[in-house]
Amino acid sequence: MMKILNYINGKWVEPIASEFIDVINPATGTIEAKTPVGDKSSVKDAADAASKALTEWKKVPAQDRIQYLFKLKFLLEDNLEEISRTITKECGKTLDEAKAEMRRAIENVEVACGIPMMSKGEISEDIAPGIDEMMLRQPVGVCATVAPFNFPGMIPFWYLPYVLALGSTYIIKPSEKVPMTMMLIFKLIDQLNLPAGVINMVHGTKDVVDAILDHPAIRAITFVGSSTTAQYIYRRAAENGKRVQAQGGAKNPVIIMPDADMDMATKIIADSAFGCAGQRCLAVSWAVTVGEAKNEFLESICDAASSRTVGYGLESGIQMGPVINGGSKQRIEELIAKGISQGAGIPVDGRGTKISGFESGSFIRPTILTDVLPGNELSTTEIFGPVLSMMHVNTIEEAIQLANQGRYGNQASLFTASGSAARKFRNEVEAGNIGINIGVAAPMAFFPFSGWKDSFFGDMHGQGMDAVEFFTQKKVVVERWPKDWARKF
Ligand code: NAD
Repeated sequence: MMKILNYINGKWVEPIASEFIDVINPATGTIEAKTPVGDKSSVKDAADAASKALTEWKKVPAQDRIQYLFKLKFLLEDNLEEISRTITKECGKTLDEAKAEMRRAIENVEVACGIPMMSKGEISEDIAPGIDEMMLRQPVGVCATVAPFNFPGMIPFWYLPYVLALGSTYIIKPSEKVPMTMMLIFKLIDQLNLPAGVINMVHGTKDVVDAILDHPAIRAITFVGSSTTAQYIYRRAAENGKRVQAQGGAKNPVIIMPDADMDMATKIIADSAFGCAGQRCLAVSWAVTVGEAKNEFLESICDAASSRTVGYGLESGIQMGPVINGGSKQRIEELIAKGISQGAGIPVDGRGTKISGFESGSFIRPTILTDVLPGNELSTTEIFGPVLSMMHVNTIEEAIQLANQGRYGNQASLFTASGSAARKFRNEVEAGNIGINIGVAAPMAFFPFSGWKDSFFGDMHGQGMDAVEFFTQKKVVVERWPKDWARKF
């Protein structure tokens, strides 16, 4: 069993906790670790260490700060296999999915290596005779991230490399469900020989999060998780005068036009809906067929769903792992049952899945529900499992209207061969990420990442130039240097 420790002021520290939560491998049911709960005093220690480190760290030239990121990139690559295996063990996704996740983490490290260029200031000379005006970017201060379970390796990297390179200091709180991945990554961070206190980690649940939200030294908070928690974090952090961005949940539509390449659409939509067992915030979770697309797409997506190989993600040939835990499996199966009671058909039913040799696993096979009605629970609730709900309309206008009806706006996808349909869709759909013949429209690290509506609370997004904005504060300087002053002194 892996021992879960905090990392504060450059040292591994025993958590101060009397209660622990089991970290259960969702495929095998084995207890892999125990996450400490209620360790509020470690937040204070981490915030003190990060505040102290800030004084010197912000003076280190950006060019020198990014040297740590170059080292980190190669350490992450050298240890990719072990980290990815750990992601599979605690989170359930397949080993290939875990490796792809870590590639996206590394991509953010690579982009943040460009921070000296991305964060340089601006100057306007001679705004009046002898007067120059400039805008400098300075570190925002101590920052913290509260992370979800579904990407234990990638999501902290939407923030960590940028904070580091921009001269702020940092505290990460991983999800209590998946603390082991960041334990391994911090073993690598420990090898960087960063000044003590620049990067810290505290484990825990709500108590620890509240201590982070309330600590006066922490100036900026990033959050990723469900919308209910996101809204809470946004409110409480803002009330405490902090800069905050909170990414929330999703219910992503995909529209299939009659002119779509059905083979391509089916493969890509199946990967999006069932990849990572549907536990991606960019997974498509409801499909709207337009006109004649209905029958062909339904038949092909049902084939794709029922032929997916489900099992333990560390075994070869497995295309889909379990959902995160038994509670989640039960919640998803109950939502499916409710959908059926509200009139949905179920041509592919993944409930009650048992995988031989993994009887304690939280498996649900891919599930397809048809004739889901707009407004009922299946069409509005985030399921966060391998379930695709189907609806049908006659025109793209109706499809876009449906796509825009919900509270979320993380991603929307369209499959078509028509440029004008694509143009209409990307202009009219209310979502932060748009996929045209793409199932998971995940922005590269040099583009901003976030949703719209209840999928996001805040202003500046994650990654790229938005990270530069978020983790710096601007200072404007107006200077007068009369020409003859040099002679006077
Ligand atoms: P969650 O909201 O349950 O937990 C996320 C984090 O918040 C965890 O670290 C947890 O300890 C903490 N937390 C939970 N309840 C809290 C409370 N009441 N007060 C303070 N802190 C609390 O989310 P999850 O189940 O870990 O992750 C799945 C969710 O994350 C899904 O809704 C998914 O759509 C969303 N997600 C969104 C994005 C995005 O970019 N929009 C990315 C990944 C996941």
